[in-house]
Order: sequence, then C-alpha cells, then structure tokens
Amino acid sequence: MGCKYCGRALGYHDTRCPLYEEPNAKYKCQACDEGIFPGDEYVEFNGKYIHYDCADIYELLDLFEAEIMTMEDD
Ligand SMILES: [Zn+2]
Ligand SMILES: [Zn+2]
Repeated sequence: MGCKYCGRALGYHDTRCPLYEEPNAKYKCQACDEGIFPGDEYVEFNGKYIHYDCADIYELLDLFEAEIMTMEDD
C-alpha cells in the first residue's frame, strides 16, 4: 500500500505530499528561504545565495546593503 496522502510508494512522496521531505539543499536561498537544489539557477554574492528567479533587484540591493540615494539638485 502506498502513502495515504499522495498514493505513492512510501519513501517516494509527491513533492506536494505533506510527508514529502526535501532533499538536503547545499545552500538556502536568502530571498525565499527555500533550498537551492541541483539544476536550479542561482546567483552568488559575498557568500549569499539566491535563486535566479528570486533575484529581484530591490531584494538584492537590500540584501547587499546597498544605499539608495536621491541625487540632490544643487
Ligand atoms: Zn506521500
Ligand atoms: Zn528563492
């Protein structure tokens, strides 16, 4: 008999099954807090890792503590 949630053989849960466990990710995405798995595209900067898809420019600026300034008119 398979899993009562996803119907698959035990140990091979569907990724949406509540019993599914993510494989150990080497790195964690700093933006969405999920693992970065083999085959995922990601960006790396100063030892921080972010999925390419999560790499929003504003998030990156925040993450890398870039200062956002407004040019003064003088
Ligand atoms: Zn399952
Ligand atoms: Zn992410």
